[in-house]
Amino acid sequence: MARKKQFKAESKRLLDLMINSIYTHKEIFLRELISNASDAIDKLYYKSLSENLSDVERDKFHIYLEVNKEARTLTIRDNGLGMDKEELEENLGTIAKSGSLAFKQELEEEEKQDDVDIIGQFGVGFYSAFMVAQKVDVISKKYGSEEAYIWSSNAVDGYTIEPCEKDSCGTEITLYLKENSDDENYDEYMQQYEIERLIKKYSDYIRYPIQMMVEEQ
Ligand code: ADP
Ligand code: MG
Repeated sequence: MARKKQFKAESKRLLDLMINSIYTHKEIFLRELISNASDAIDKLYYKSLSENLSDVERDKFHIYLEVNKEARTLTIRDNGLGMDKEELEENLGTIAKSGSLAFKQELEEEEKQDDVDIIGQFGVGFYSAFMVAQKVDVISKKYGSEEAYIWSSNAVDGYTIEPCEKDSCGTEITLYLKENSDDENYDEYMQQYEIERLIKKYSDYIRYPIQMMVEEQ
């Protein structure tokens, strides 16, 4: 077993907020993950143009969603730039980034205000996955690298990073959805119509095809 690493203190604050969120628009997690996937594809797109990379098939860029009802998982996969081990550590272990950072600053300034009021005002980013998932796995392989890594976390105990197998470059994020409770239904994030609704509502502007694997009923 790989050693568990703890999140940086400032990330912990945001994570706690996400895990215990009573925010009513938890559904925005999908917007955040799809926008990250799209950003990663943009990065590979521009890299392939500026470096004239002939092995990048720009017409094959896509974002792919897959549900496994038995395992209660939702997976978001992209064939973008991917992350190496250091980037997984840097990008997912700390809040350094735009939306999340502004969010955190706002939280500190408005400590007395109800936390949940301000979630919607920011692109809170990757950590919003923990509003709906009890565990998140991120498998990634950076373009040009031979190695792939899996970052895994249930938020509370920190995270691990271990080597794993992945054929092609890009990132695959698997959400292990929370169990339903009296007031929350997480099963809906495994329903095709609901996922389609969320994509239309929040991710209509994404310029890469978003495809979905539909399970046989
Ligand atoms: P932001 O998108 O505002 O930078 P996020 O919290 O959404 O903040 O994401 C943090 C960082 O993690 C991103 O900046 C990016 O470097 C990395 N990242 C997240 N998702 C992906 C992905 N699918 N592919 C590659 N990198 C990603
Ligand atoms: Mg983002």
